[in-house]
Amino acid sequence: MPSPDHHCDVLIAGGGFAGLALAIALRRALGSGFAVTLADPALDHGSGARAQDLRASAIAAAPRRMFEALGVWNAVAPQAQPILDMVVTDSRVEDAVRPVLLTFAGEIEPGEPFAHMIENDRLVGALAAEAARTGVELLAAPVTEFATGPQQVVAQVAGRNAIAASLLVAADGARSRLRECAGIATHGWSYGQSAIVATVAHERDHGGRAEEHFLPGGPFALLPLRNRRCSIVWTERSADADRIVALANGEFHAELEQRFGLRLGDITALGGRDGRRVHPVGLWVARRFIDDRLALVGDAAHVIHPIAGQGLNLGLRDVAALAEAVVDAVRLGLDPGEAAVLERYQRWRRFDTMTMSVSTDVLNRLFSNRSDVLRLFRDIGLGLVDRLPGVKHMFIREAAGLLGEVPKLLRGEAL
Ligand SMILES: Cc1cc2nc3c(=O)[nH]c(=O)nc-3n(C[C@H](O)[C@H](O)[C@H](O)COP(=O)(O)OP(=O)(O)OC[C@H]3O[C@@H](n4cnc5c(N)ncnc54)[C@H](O)[C@@H]3O)c2cc1C
Repeated sequence: MPSPDHHCDVLIAGGGFAGLALAIALRRALGSGFAVTLADPALDHGSGARAQDLRASAIAAAPRRMFEALGVWNAVAPQAQPILDMVVTDSRVEDAVRPVLLTFAGEIEPGEPFAHMIENDRLVGALAAEAARTGVELLAAPVTEFATGPQQVVAQVAGRNAIAASLLVAADGARSRLRECAGIATHGWSYGQSAIVATVAHERDHGGRAEEHFLPGGPFALLPLRNRRCSIVWTERSADADRIVALANGEFHAELEQRFGLRLGDITALGGRDGRRVHPVGLWVARRFIDDRLALVGDAAHVIHPIAGQGLNLGLRDVAALAEAVVDAVRLGLDPGEAAVLERYQRWRRFDTMTMSVSTDVLNRLFSNRSDVLRLFRDIGLGLVDRLPGVKHMFIREAAGLLGEVPKLLRGEAL
């Protein structure tokens, strides 16, 4: 490793949601005296390193409060669609009617829906603009390797001299190179399923309703966007997903309509074949979230099934917890890369991550199959939950990220 020509307090590898949100949180709390550098090849929009992300995400109430505290929410709020209610069904693809088994409606607080839908590229764009505004140093290149010493970590950013930092953060996504360099193994498995993502325009207004249809190949989620559009996350066994996504427009439309239904009138999948993407789905959790002067956040630490739309929300909880641990330490005059600071972060995040990983795994196993016996049991279970307002309220607060030891940013408080 060449000797560093540059020093910062925190170096973040990865400028997706997690990395950018962390960079903004640190700068806002600790000011211009605290140097934050963020490196990601996808920051160079001309390079093609970031392919267009066709996904939209359900942002739960707690992360939305965090985006508000970070000064980002106002920029995207006009395009964000509140989710006002949600229905869950369980049926076979060929069934003409999909009976509603469970409904969620209402608000977390008066005037505050439990989630909003927003296009990923729009939100990442707003985060990148705010990071630049708060003085985060943005480098359009990947971190390729690093070496850790007792006082600092030295990382190589491609095409530059090395950079020294007190703390290195791996926010470099599911196939994290930094996690691999640190020798941190993951445990988990592929589900043999893939999620087809597309945006569908429809004739009638969705009224802010999200729908999740549990079908034998996997869940089919219909998530409301502004302007009479829905984002769909359509999970199938991987071979079926690859076949469906390659269909000609007319055949794709027929498969889509069979699952989407006619409630919203005529539908059109936007963008033709270029408007569809396939994402393989799996469960992967890092054995450790920390190493010497290294912290993993977001998908670099854990990837879960999109069945509950919680992957990003989980990553933003990492960000809020790590930001709080670092800010508290720096205000006490401590080194932000010190083991005690990182252990506080890891303790905070381990249990919540395991709970969410196990819940999404059980949900997917319970619903993505053709067993009529299992269907009977799960439908009785869903019917019972639907009749218990207290249990439903608890599920909504959990999905909104408001249960447990919630970090300050997720309560909407400044650090
Ligand atoms: C189909 C689908 C639907 C989903 N829907 C939802 C939802 O509704 N709600 C929700 O909460 N979650 C959802 N998720 C999960 C969510 O999309 C992810 O959890 C989230 O995008 C992860 O963000 P991240 O910042 O951790 O990683 P990423 O978004 O993967 O960002 C990683 C960044 O690191 C950069 N990078 C890579 N290598 C390097 C390197 N060596 N050096 C520097 N930079 C590097 C990349 O260019 C990239 O910009 C969904 C996932 C899928 C697959």
